[in-house]
Amino acid sequence: MGSFANVKRKYESMICRRCINEEFSAALTPNDCIYGYPFPMNCNCCKEMRNIVTNLRLSGKIKLLFKSMKD
Ligand SMILES: [Zn+2]
Repeated sequence: MGSFANVKRKYESMICRRCINEEFSAALTPNDCIYGYPFPMNCNCCKEMRNIVTNLRLSGKIKLLFKSMKD
């Protein structure tokens, strides 16, 4: 599986929250995410116009950390 950094690299840092949740089988909420762009952009994973997650808040990082430890 891997870390958020690996997923970001895979999708060239253009990935939406929904696709991150699918990658990690996680349940990130908007509050777990940092959206670096003020408008929706093309997600490289689902190819739709979505808000791109550029970073995670601590709560989001912890959620993914626990997910990746289970794998
Ligand atoms: Zn997406």
